[in-house]
Amino acid sequence: MNFSIARKKMVHDQVIARGVSDRRVLDSMLHIPRHIFVQEAFAAQAYSDTALPIGEKQTISQPYIVALMSEMLALNGTEKVLEIGTGSGYQTAILATLAERVFSAERIRPLALRARKCLDSLKLFNVQLRINDTEGSPIGWEEEAPFDAIIVTAGAPSVPDILTDQLAPGGRLVIPVGSDTDQQLVKVIKRDNGELERCASIDCRFVPLIGKQGWRA
Ligand code: SAH
Repeated sequence: MNFSIARKKMVHDQVIARGVSDRRVLDSMLHIPRHIFVQEAFAAQAYSDTALPIGEKQTISQPYIVALMSEMLALNGTEKVLEIGTGSGYQTAILATLAERVFSAERIRPLALRARKCLDSLKLFNVQLRINDTEGSPIGWEEEAPFDAIIVTAGAPSVPDILTDQLAPGGRLVIPVGSDTDQQLVKVIKRDNGELERCASIDCRFVPLIGKQGWRA
């Protein structure tokens, strides 16, 4: 299988065709090899229009969702970004090419360790990973706040205050919000006066965000 051709086709047929137009996002998805972030048995499906299992009952998001969420963050390369839910590390890698620094938290240790290897193999050294595997650890990364952008790649029952509190003025938070099986993508912008503006995008389906302002494990 020619992965480079599959990647071009993915960006054209799944991402551009559905209206994502941020050139930096498209270039990043053309460049980052998605197949190294999935288990070997799924490598041939890595560029398919679907989420895939990554072990530990978790999934790597569908390519279009990665593109859309990345575009919604409106990054120009200067930002400090927080990601909750490293998972495979694929979205993390895309963010690493779009922003200056990325902080990514994951609660399942083996996933974080595998993601670290993949990111290192691509020499994406502007990413810091953290493992939040103790019961009740707070969502977010308070010591590194504020962030210009925050992305949550697991579904939450509501927008956690603990995350909007970690946004810089002008910052954007993108998060799936809804039930534990079906959500809507929500973007929250923190205005310079601290007010929060919220708008909703498409319906989506993520694994649950676990924690105090998420769901129970
Ligand atoms: N962006 C990832 C998505 C992985 S699925 C990818 O495309 O591969 C979501 C991930 O969020 C899972 O790995 C899950 O373990 C993690 N997660 C859930 N709740 C979390 C929390 N409170 N803190 C950190 N990670 C969390």
